[in-house]
Amino acid sequence: MNTFLHTRIPLVLIVDDDLIIQTQLCQVMQQEGYEVVVANNGQEALDIYINLNPNIVLLDAMMPVMDGFTCCTQMQALATEKFTDDLSLTTPILMITGLHDPDSVDKAFAVGASDYITKPIHWAVLRLRVRRLLQMSGTMKKLKQKIEQEKLIVKITNKIRQSLNLNIILNTTVKEVRKLLKTDQVIVYGFQPDGSANILVESVNNEWQSIQGENVKDCYFLNKCRQKYQKGGIQIINNIKEVGISQCQIDSLNQWQAKASLVVPIVQNEYVWGLLIVYQCSSPRQWQQMEIDLLQQIADQLVIGIRQAHIYEQLEIANQELIRLANIDGLTQIANRRCFDQVLLKEWKRLQREKLPLSLILCDIDYFKKYNDTYGHPAGDECLKKVAHILSQSINRAADLAARYGGEEFVLILPQTETKGAVHIAKKIRTKIESAAIPHISSLVSEYITLSLGIATIVPSLETDSQYLISQADQALYKAKESGRNRFAVASQAIKPMKLIGDIIHNNN
Ligand code: GH3
Ligand code: MG
Ligand code: MG
Repeated sequence: MNTFLHTRIPLVLIVDDDLIIQTQLCQVMQQEGYEVVVANNGQEALDIYINLNPNIVLLDAMMPVMDGFTCCTQMQALATEKFTDDLSLTTPILMITGLHDPDSVDKAFAVGASDYITKPIHWAVLRLRVRRLLQMSGTMKKLKQKIEQEKLIVKITNKIRQSLNLNIILNTTVKEVRKLLKTDQVIVYGFQPDGSANILVESVNNEWQSIQGENVKDCYFLNKCRQKYQKGGIQIINNIKEVGISQCQIDSLNQWQAKASLVVPIVQNEYVWGLLIVYQCSSPRQWQQMEIDLLQQIADQLVIGIRQAHIYEQLEIANQELIRLANIDGLTQIANRRCFDQVLLKEWKRLQREKLPLSLILCDIDYFKKYNDTYGHPAGDECLKKVAHILSQSINRAADLAARYGGEEFVLILPQTETKGAVHIAKKIRTKIESAAIPHISSLVSEYITLSLGIATIVPSLETDSQYLISQADQALYKAKESGRNRFAVASQAIKPMKLIGDIIHNNN
């Protein structure tokens, strides 16, 4: 009878105080192929009901000690209380009554009986009713179990889907699967591009050895596994000693001291990405169909989770690259104007709060138009790259920034730096530019590329803004140009906006 959930022979509980009817009922039920257990009254019936969990109850209505109606009521209450899986509530109760009055029938249904027959018993009718009730309850149990299974899957899927991080997804899966199947060990094997395999994550019972991070390099063994699992589908081993298990599987079980296993391939676009493996180490284990179905469904969800995590990871990389591109100058590969503006604003606010100085150095290549005219625009581009590189090499604090300000102008942001420190950096730049000795035969100040630099320092305050600092540095740069180029000039520290007092010009020192 494959419609029954339990593969066991249906157990019939017969409850009747009349010994003759009891014996007749037993015989008929046994002839039908059922197993039988007997109770003489309602109280005895309740004990048997709880201990043996029968598939159906044939319950006499009129009995001493406890009548059938009371017994039926109590059976329902006991089932709710004792059987938390809610399945025993579907155990049918067939009332046998000697009474013909409709009140008894109503009463039988009111206390939860599934059906009734009257005495004297019509045996053919009884046989048919019992068969039908067993079939119905079997179907009902299957349905209920299916619903439970769906609920579990939804619960676990939600947990798996809570993250887009691959490691979290895998860890949640092994943890939940081990909890669900109450096994010793659950792992995820990940195949590597070089043909080896890693144990990516595991959930293991304290008694068993952890194998997380182990690498399996035997490519022959792995390839055989891969071929085997390529087609998908779950591989079930109840006992390592069974006949017909492939050597590949035995080796795999022996390797981690397991006695039974369930293996589901994680297949992405026909490529075996990895394996989800459940091990029973303490003993062999007869896996139930429901457990196998559940694991397969979880593995399907895991495949989706892995795919989503992968897409998310690529999206993150693309986003990072976009952010990088948005902040980098395409030619010189140092920060661009947009990045400069943002960093300056951020540092301005920070140092305003902390009341610390902020220095800027504006750098402009001398006679660069002539350089382009002499060597050509592409050579001009190469020169800009070299200068940008030297500038970025001249700063070393994490908060410092070298950026292309525009054309052949560059700018350095030096947070928490006094004029003295900025002057030190300016000197360092000039030395490095000098050492680079980039030929510039058309320059009117040197045979090589030179820079003019304007330095400004301020402690940011509420009375002024970062534009003021830029204009100060620009004016200092103008001074440097005006007084002969190839030098730096420092704007005096101005307390008040737009007031530049006594600029100091420095030539080659
Ligand atoms: P000064 O000493 O007064 O600074 O003179 P200069 O020639 O350097 O200044 P000017 O502003 O007259 O010329 C700047 C030149 O920089 C003009 C422009 O063609 C060149 N330039 C700006 N951006 C680029 C670039 O991306 N590549 C190249 N090759 N040249 C650029
Ligand atoms: Mg310029
Ligand atoms: Mg210039």
